[in-house]
Amino acid sequence: MQQSGATVWFTGLSGAGKTTITQALAENLRSQGYKLEILDGDVVRENLTKGLGFSKADRDENIRRIGFVSHLLTKHGVIVLVSAISPYREIREEVKQKIGDFVEVYVNAPLAVCEGRDVKGLYKRARSGEIKSFTGIDDPYEPPLNPTVECRTDLEELSESVAKVVNKLEELGYLPKTPVAERV
Ligand code: ADP
Repeated sequence: MQQSGATVWFTGLSGAGKTTITQALAENLRSQGYKLEILDGDVVRENLTKGLGFSKADRDENIRRIGFVSHLLTKHGVIVLVSAISPYREIREEVKQKIGDFVEVYVNAPLAVCEGRDVKGLYKRARSGEIKSFTGIDDPYEPPLNPTVECRTDLEELSESVAKVVNKLEELGYLPKTPVAERV
């Protein structure tokens, strides 16, 4: 049985835990022999979507391009892990419809928790006005209404969040059980 592709899309506020869960999930799946690719918002903005800003139009274009690449990879049997704030519901929905094999993971922690973590020091800069249009502060975040998986990173351990996603991928048939040795 061949691995069937899927896009696992992590959406949530900055500091909610998207990158952390993605990295841990990638390690877990790679160790089992699955073929995967990571598209991280911060990395993508340095190449694929370099030059785009944070207006609604640019944010939507950013997501559309990530979605385009994810679709190509998914069609070719890759498990794609996308980690991007992706604040707008409508464009997430558009990408979901296009890709089909799409698992939406809402990485959810209250704004106060994300801000308290302030992993990259961005909230501080947004509060001082140095950064404008920062999601959650002076730009909207539209939470998924019906995510495939929700990870409450303020209430659960990283391992629980990862397990939730792995279990859902298994349940949906995206992780066929074949020995690692049989995979190329
Ligand atoms: P994002 O990619 O969403 O901006 P990061 O993954 O960079 O967020 O940062 C999330 C922070 O939250 C990290 O410092 C991480 O250690 C912490 N954290 C605490 N609990 C969890 C959890 N259950 N899942 C993911 N991250 C968690």
